[in-house]
Amino acid sequence: MELKCAIQTYNWGKHGMDSIVATLMKSANADFVVDEQKTYAELWMGIHENGASYLKDTDVSLQKYIQENTKVLGSDTIQMFGPNLPFLFKVLSINKALSIQVHPNKEKAKELYELYPNIYKDPNHKPELAIALTPFEALCGFRPINEINDYLNNIPELLSVIGETNVRRLLQATDSMIGDALQQCFYSLMTCDSNEVTRQLKSLIDRLHNTDDSYRQWIKANLLKRLYADYPGDVGCFTIYLFNYVTMQPGEAIYIGPNIPHAYLSGDCIECMACSDNVIRAGLTPKPKDVPTLIQIMSFECESASAKKIQPFREDVFTEVFRPPVSDFAVAKITLPPGRPSHNLKLRSSASILLIVSGKAEISSKIFSRGSVLFIPANEAVEIKVLCGCHPMLMFQAFPNL
Ligand SMILES: [Zn+2]
Repeated sequence: MELKCAIQTYNWGKHGMDSIVATLMKSANADFVVDEQKTYAELWMGIHENGASYLKDTDVSLQKYIQENTKVLGSDTIQMFGPNLPFLFKVLSINKALSIQVHPNKEKAKELYELYPNIYKDPNHKPELAIALTPFEALCGFRPINEINDYLNNIPELLSVIGETNVRRLLQATDSMIGDALQQCFYSLMTCDSNEVTRQLKSLIDRLHNTDDSYRQWIKANLLKRLYADYPGDVGCFTIYLFNYVTMQPGEAIYIGPNIPHAYLSGDCIECMACSDNVIRAGLTPKPKDVPTLIQIMSFECESASAKKIQPFREDVFTEVFRPPVSDFAVAKITLPPGRPSHNLKLRSSASILLIVSGKAEISSKIFSRGSVLFIPANEAVEIKVLCGCHPMLMFQAFPNL
């Protein structure tokens, strides 16, 4: 069943036809008009109320259809999650950094929702997986402590906004004390007077004009200037010295578990998450920051950038599956090479959503191509007859990880 999906026009998205979200929508929906002034940030595929999908033929919402035909979910999914699709599948097209954020675990999400329903509108956790479609960059988790200490020792502006006493405590901390000392440093940075943050950021940027190439590379001058231009005076600019800077090539992926601070910076990706919109923000945003909650739940574990990447399992010659350590979702990347006339999708015991990123095929006697999004009931055999044999066909399929 083909789906008609919602888009989000957040201001960090790419403009007009530069956005893969816009070009996928345009390709699959003849009546979709792309406005070059508008930002197309996210395509949502699923049942979340903030951007629900509809069955194209009948205009019934996917949620309503599932409620009335629960068996399409598959018995394992119903047993585990009730009569709901547990994941939200997305495409993101990023022009400038998203806010630095943390997603609470299930228990905390429920607690926050019950205490502050107006701020935390979603009781579910939101682990997420991002698979790069184009070269992609992100901040993710705290850096190894030696990298953080190196920056603290050599960037006086960073020392100023965190405070000398806090920094000295971190530099002298034994292994078991690092977490607490880092938490204090981060709290101090987040609550630093905003005029002081602006002054120190300005002084750091000005100073970079007179430094050599290797220093500029070490201090990530280009990234800092880019963030500063998009979010002038924002305390989040300093966090590039605390968080891992992760880059991905197309096909590479990162998994972000509960309580891990992260921010996507640029590029296009496929994203899958538990069906939730639960965010606590920590910078690179004009939106309010809840620092006490943030500090309370954030993971101060220090890990290398490479530890954040997740490797896929090869399911068959054409299919790689990314299986994060949660049951809410997994994502298969299916690449059919040119000249392969037909392919049987692996039978899944749960409902899935299939997105065609490139190529053209006949499925159940209908023609689908770039941008088509299909809902596939559990245990349904799907044969894909490739129509244009000269280009590879690229598809992503999301399903519960059961
Ligand atoms: Zn996130």
